Amino acid sequence: MSSTPDRLVDFDEVLTRYEPVMGLETHVELGTASKMFCGCSTTFGAEPNTQTCPTCLGLPGSLPAANAAAIESTIRIGLALGCRIATWARFSRKNYFYPDIPKGFQTTQYDEPLCTAGHLDVEVDGETYRVEIERVHLEEDTGKNLHVGGSTGRIHGADHSLIDYNRAGIPLVEIVTRPIPGAGGKAPEVARAYVTELREVLVALGVSEVRMEQGNLRCDVNTSLAPIGSLEWGTRTETKNVNSLRSVERAVRFEMRRQAAVLDAGGTITQETRHFHEDTGTTSPGRSKEEATDYRYFPEPDLVPVAPDEEWVATLLAELPELPAARRTRLSDEWGISPTEMAWLVNAGAVELVSDTVAAGASPADARKWWLGDLARRANDTGTELAELAVTPAQVAQLIELISAGTINDQLARQALDGVLAGEGDPAAVVEARGLAVMGESDELVSAVEAAIEGNPDVAEKVRGGKVQAIGALVGAVMKTTRGKADAATVKRMLEERLVS
Ligand SMILES: [Zn+2]
Repeated sequence: MSSTPDRLVDFDEVLTRYEPVMGLETHVELGTASKMFCGCSTTFGAEPNTQTCPTCLGLPGSLPAANAAAIESTIRIGLALGCRIATWARFSRKNYFYPDIPKGFQTTQYDEPLCTAGHLDVEVDGETYRVEIERVHLEEDTGKNLHVGGSTGRIHGADHSLIDYNRAGIPLVEIVTRPIPGAGGKAPEVARAYVTELREVLVALGVSEVRMEQGNLRCDVNTSLAPIGSLEWGTRTETKNVNSLRSVERAVRFEMRRQAAVLDAGGTITQETRHFHEDTGTTSPGRSKEEATDYRYFPEPDLVPVAPDEEWVATLLAELPELPAARRTRLSDEWGISPTEMAWLVNAGAVELVSDTVAAGASPADARKWWLGDLARRANDTGTELAELAVTPAQVAQLIELISAGTINDQLARQALDGVLAGEGDPAAVVEARGLAVMGESDELVSAVEAAIEGNPDVAEKVRGGKVQAIGALVGAVMKTTRGKADAATVKRMLEERLVS
């Protein structure tokens, strides 16, 4: 039985026979100044191998020391997720040899993690789903392999490989959910909503840059199917390194359709890791878990156990910032919108953008209108996240200000936005450079109005005869000759002055 069948099952049909269960493992690179077990810098984008030392290179005789700021960040993440904070936690060695692990083992937390048993509530289509968090633990990142000479960037076909150890030893937090059943057809959206909400929590805590495109936040997505009514869950696959919110949703959706096709044909699901392909939205098999190595975990003898002081933990809890869910409730009140309207903003990834646009001077209604309307459509057309569009909240606020001041209308504003997104500068500069300002009652507009009357004598006669609604055709003609730069209300008034006594 091929692991990728020729035909997938339609998504809606999957739901008539199977119940999906998901699980998510999220890795977050913490934004600490130094690495987890040494003093090396963590600055992104430095020359390869310039941020290394004997400890993160695993040289003999070097000794690690745990980074206190990373431990604090991990505990704050645990507290924000309602976890129980351990009074005693320990680091372990996870032994495996790989070129990007110079020590031959990864220092991680195994049986004694810092945080356990939390939850995060997410909302999809007005319904709340509680995602149970199994554990939040602290470990170190690996180095980065660069395969040179091949076309795909993968090791197959490469001439040689280079290794950059700058990333080796950067503190990494892993947040593991318990299996999430009961989402049915909403499973792909619940998975995406969970990662979205988690990212918002991490942003609020200020513990990481959480930029998925830079790999600060990486997701492994587990998916399984069981026949409806079955008491046992199906065999799961683990799709590795899914690196955008949209891809999280697509990965779950694809695995559900693929696994249903395999099961329908009488096949069995292999427990394996799979790779997600951004271009096609499909997954392909990686290594099989049946051959997975035994990591021979054992307590790291070079590090003392971590015993967080209860009073310190209580202080950290008291000093947590306002969390996204509470903030959304407050903003809904301030902006006068319903929970459903707020959910649209959340799903569009627009809460921060609207909030920042309001802070830059726009009204909440205008800010929502632009981010959820024109800008959301553009993001959708280009398959990007709203926040990745090349326009800032301050620029959107300026655009709205230009409309309020009557300098441009909505149609010209869209053209100004084209210019901003094309890198031509702020809206005001684009309006200036492209000559987009609304025409005043200039000679040019007067002649356009007169030309419309002369060019449409039948219509003009109707208006003069009392059929005032016919004036719309003349307004349209003027808007056309001025290429949308005239103000429709002004044009209408000018026509009335000439035709209606
Ligand atoms: Zn180092």
